[in-house]
Formats: sequence, structure tokens, C-alpha cells
Amino acid sequence: MDQVVPITVDHYTRGGDVAVMALCVVTAILLLTSYVSRTRSYRIFINIIVMIFAAAFVNIGGHCLLTADNPRTYALIYGMRVFYHALLYDIFTLFVLYTAEVSGLELRKMRIAAVTGCLLLVALVAVDTAMGVTGAGWDLAEGGMILHNTSLFMIGYGLYIILLISLMTRVRHLLYKRVLYGFFGTMALSVAIVLTQLFLHESSLTTMTFMFPVVAMLYIMHSNPYNVRMGTVDTRAMEDMVRNMSRRKIPFVYFSIFFPEYNAEGRTLPLSIQDRIRTLPGRYFRQCVLFQISNGYIVMIAPKRSNPGFENRFVQLAGDVAASYRFFQVPYKVVAGESMEEISRKNEYASLIRDITRGMEENTVHRVVQGDLDRFNRNEYILGELADICDCRNPEDPRVLAYCQPVFNLKTGQFDTAEALMRLNLAETGIIYPDQFIPLAEAHGYIHALTEIILHKTCRGIRKLTGEGFSINRISINVSVLELKEDTFCEDIDRIIANNRVPGDKIAIELTETGNEEDFLLMKGKIEELRREGVKFYLDDFGTGYSNMERIMELPFDIIKFDRSLVAASGTDERSEKIVENLAHLFRDMDYSVLYEGVENDTDEARCREMSASYLQGYKYSRPVPIEQLKDFLSQAG
Ligand code: C2E
Ligand code: CA
Ligand code: CA
Repeated sequence: MDQVVPITVDHYTRGGDVAVMALCVVTAILLLTSYVSRTRSYRIFINIIVMIFAAAFVNIGGHCLLTADNPRTYALIYGMRVFYHALLYDIFTLFVLYTAEVSGLELRKMRIAAVTGCLLLVALVAVDTAMGVTGAGWDLAEGGMILHNTSLFMIGYGLYIILLISLMTRVRHLLYKRVLYGFFGTMALSVAIVLTQLFLHESSLTTMTFMFPVVAMLYIMHSNPYNVRMGTVDTRAMEDMVRNMSRRKIPFVYFSIFFPEYNAEGRTLPLSIQDRIRTLPGRYFRQCVLFQISNGYIVMIAPKRSNPGFENRFVQLAGDVAASYRFFQVPYKVVAGESMEEISRKNEYASLIRDITRGMEENTVHRVVQGDLDRFNRNEYILGELADICDCRNPEDPRVLAYCQPVFNLKTGQFDTAEALMRLNLAETGIIYPDQFIPLAEAHGYIHALTEIILHKTCRGIRKLTGEGFSINRISINVSVLELKEDTFCEDIDRIIANNRVPGDKIAIELTETGNEEDFLLMKGKIEELRREGVKFYLDDFGTGYSNMERIMELPFDIIKFDRSLVAASGTDERSEKIVENLAHLFRDMDYSVLYEGVENDTDEARCREMSASYLQGYKYSRPVPIEQLKDFLSQAG
């Protein structure tokens, strides 16, 4: 140890430490002005920055004393030196904790890592202090004091690096690769700089090297970039805010705007609307933060206590939104409410609001009440079951029931077709009806799996009925337009029909109109493909959609199903009756068959007979019944 070069005296310049302090200030400014995720790792992160700042400060202080060359300060200089090293070891230990925390390491392993870090710190500081007391760590030289404990620090540095690398290798399967590369990369750079320094007998950049991983952490882990125009941050930031508010038991209110037209992939809200979003909520709510959940879905959250009389503010803000609508003409749905314990705990505001908006009319405002929460919980349960049904892929799944409603054929005077209507039989709810699960299934991509089961059960029912000698021409199933987008749609339908050994023409598919050109072309292609297998097609709910006659005529439908609203309307006044009658007549002339839905009584039936009907369906004849019960309506073949 005799030939130790007096590194700290000769080769230290304050530049590195001053730069560290500047970087700390810049980081602080960024943290104050940006929206940061206040996770647990964030607290460790803040501690790291404070420690680095302190280390730089202590290092500068120590060196100021060193050059002052006053024998009475030797003990103090050495003490500061030990303190400086202790701070750096502590930062290392915090790095260890941080890595363990963000990777979600098990508590036991996390403790082992933390304890190892602390033991290293204690041992190194003890040795360092002992070297100071015995004089092994320093010498007097001409012009001041020479410190030898840098070699000890390098040993400590090496040990901590080994600890960090072994920890990172252990958690590598828990972390997203790129995050890991980010940390490894900055750490490698830091080590390289420290080694280069050692080689060049330099020491100015040591503290600086601790700053590199911090910059990586800030960028990779804690920054939530603002949408500069709208002033919004992302969903993750919202979950984060909710988690923090709920942990600190701070009640808050939320106000969300949903733009259905813009809530699709690739759509962006018009800049004029973005400007409104940035400026409007701040006029009514103090300390509000805006979040963009998806392209057309914005949520504002504000603490309750800074916004007394928030109900009034809700009303005013909603009024302003409505006024903006008159200007922009972009349909919206507004949902406003207060934080609720249960939703905060599960951090599910985004899904709760989405769930509520699904059932809302456009340009309306909804104030969340307890009933919404109950419905939401029920929907979550149904969604869980739907996901499970989808995963199981069991065509015989007992939870999916195929009910059928017989259809009366006026030409033959018999019930020879039927419509399959789905019900779910779930443990917690009992039997539930399509209005409670079809929209959910469609929104979450489970609908096609359900169709497959219904088709399978329908085919099996047809085989059974015909096997028992009943005569049935066809059963129609309802298919959602969304399903047509599945690449395997036609194959799936073909496969199920073929597996059940049922002729294709025993199955019909009911589709509703679409106003979208792309969907229209898709629909046309799929209809043509499946018609080759004999499958028939019905246009469902005619009279409720866009009813573009030209478009309808381009599609090879077999039957046009007049929606029951038309049947009802034709019964209320003569003008409506004339319109419906003429429409039906037109279709009939074009060789389509007309089916009236919702025939509830004798007068409905008589009127529909007069209005070019070929088929009648409705409660007058039967409610939907389990498929086996169709027997009661069908006649024996032959
Ligand atoms: P939809 O296709 O228009 O089916 C007719 C609905 O009207 C059925 O309701 C039926 O029970 C009801 N209905 C029948 N006759 C009468 C009547 O005389 N008066 C009145 N007021 N209603 C009558 P349900 O079973 O609740 O089905 C509702 C909707 O759910 C269906 O409307 C259809 O759009 C959808 N749906 C049902 N099953 C399926 C399915 O398997 N797949 C898909 N994608 N959608 C389905
Ligand atoms: Ca239908
Ligand atoms: Ca219908």
C-alpha cells in the first residue's frame, strides 16, 4: 500500500460533483412538472436522488477542507470521506431494493437482497473507520493529507456490482427485456467510467456514475408523457393516482367524456376538441388531472376536499360540454361520480365508466349511483363466465342454452322453421337473457365462441328432431356483424354443420344491416361463400337500422325480417300501415320472403297477413322454448 497515488488530492475536480447536483435539480424540476407514477419504487427512487445529492455535496465539502490544509481538520476530513462512501454504498443498497421492488420479487428474496446490501454497508463502513483510526487509511504529505481508502471503496464498489448483477440475473425472467437492457446498459456504462477513472488516476466522475441509472429509471419507469395538446396522461397514470388516493384515504370525484365516434383504433380527436378538453375541466375543478384511457375516452379526477359543492361543478361542466356539442357536433356520453371504496380497491374506474357508457344514449349525462356498481359487479361476473366459456371451447357447455321460437309459415299453415335464441344459465344469476350478455360478449370478443356453441346445439337439435320423425325445414341463428371479421368465420360454420352431419340448408344466419361500407363488402363476401354450402340468410330487424334499400338489394338474402316496431307501428295509424305494407310488397315483388316479428295477438296476425307476410313469429304462437320443446309445434314428416 506504500505506492498509493494520492488520487483524491491531485486528481479531483469539482466539475463532476457540480454536474451531479445540477442533474439532481433538473430531475427534481422534471418530477415536479411531469405526471409521475407514485408507486412504491418511486419512493425509493426519490431517496436515491436525495442520497446522490448529499454524496456530491459531502464530497465537495470534504475536498474544500482537504485543500485548506489545517491539521485539526484531518479527523473531520476522514470522517466526511467515510460518510461519502457510506452514502454511495447506501445508494447501491437502494438500487438493490429498487430492482427487487420493480421486478416484484417475492418478499423473502427481497429481504435477503436488502439485508445483504445493508450488511455490506455496515462492514465496509466499519473497516473504513478502523483504517481512519489506525492511520492505515491516510498519510500526511507535503501540502496536505493523502487518502488511501480509495482502494477499499473500489472493493466495496465491486462487491455491490456483483450483488446487483446477481440480483438482476435472478429477476430477468420477471422483467420486460428492454427495461432490463436499459438498466444493464446504464450500469455497464457506469462501471466502465469508474474503471477508466481508476486507470487514469482520476476521481471526479464517481458520483456522476450513480446518476446514469437514475436517469434510466426516470425515463423508463416513472415518466408518463403528457399529451401536450390535451394535457392528459395515460391509463397507467390513472391507476397509479387511484392507488395512491385510495391508500391515503383521499376521496375524489371523477368526470368522464366518451366520444363513441372517435373511440376506435387509429382515430384521433379533432384538435379543436383536444383544446376544449385541456381547458374546460380546469375552469370548474381545482387540482384536477386528466387521463386519456383510449382514443375517445377521457377521465378527469380531482380531490373532493379541494372541490366543495362538486355536484354543482358537475352540472356546470356538463352544461359546458353540451354547449360545446352544439358547436362541434361530435356525439358524447358523460359519466360523473364520486370515489367508491370497492372500485378504488380494485382500481376499476376505467372499466366501471366504460360499462356504464355502454348502456347510455348519445349526448346524455349519467351520475353514478350505487345501482351502477351492482350492475357493474354483475357484469364483471358474467364477463368472467364468458371468458371461461370461451376458454373451455366445449360445444356442449351446459351454461349456454339454445332456446327456439317457432315460426309460422303462412303458405303451409305449419310451424316448419324456428329462430334459435341464446340464454345463459350461470350459477350466481340463474337464466339470463341476451340483452344482459350479448353486448358484453361483443365488446370483449367472446361472441363468436358463443355462436359456435349455439350452432352446434342447434344442429344437434335438428338431427334429434328429424331423427324422431319431426319435419323441420330450417332453424336460423343470430350472428353478430363483428364475427364476420374473424378470418375463420366461414370455415367454423361449415365445420360445425358438417361435423353434425346436417344439410347446410337446414341452417340460416340472421344478420342486421350495417351502415359501414367496409362491413358491407365483408358481409357480402361471407354470405356468398356460405350460400354455396346451402346456408340461408335473413336480414334481421329491418326497419330499425339504416335501411338503405339499394344496399339491401345487393345482398342475396332469402328472408327479410320486419322488426316488431314496424308491426306495432302499423297497428297505430293508417299512414304507418301503408308504408309497411308497401315496403313488404316491394320485397315480395323482388322475390324475398317477408317475416313479421313480434306478432302478439290476433289483430297483429290479421294485419300482417294483409301486408304480404310469408312468415309470422311472436308471442301469439310461442315464447322461445328449449329446443327439445319445438316438438310441440312441429308436425310429423311424411
Ligand atoms: P332478435 O333477433 O330480434 O330476437 C327476437 C327477440 O324478440 C327475442 O328476444 C324474442 O324473445 C323476442 N320476441 C319474440 N316474439 C316477441 C313478441 O311477440 N313480442 C315481444 N315483445 N318480443 C318478442 P331475446 O331472446 O331476448 O333476444 C334479444 C336479442 O338478442 C335478439 O333479438 C338478438 O338480437 C340477440 N340474440 C339472441 N340470441 C342470440 C345469439 O345466439 N347470437 C347473437 N349474436 N345474438 C342473439
Ligand atoms: Ca334475430
Ligand atoms: Ca329481430
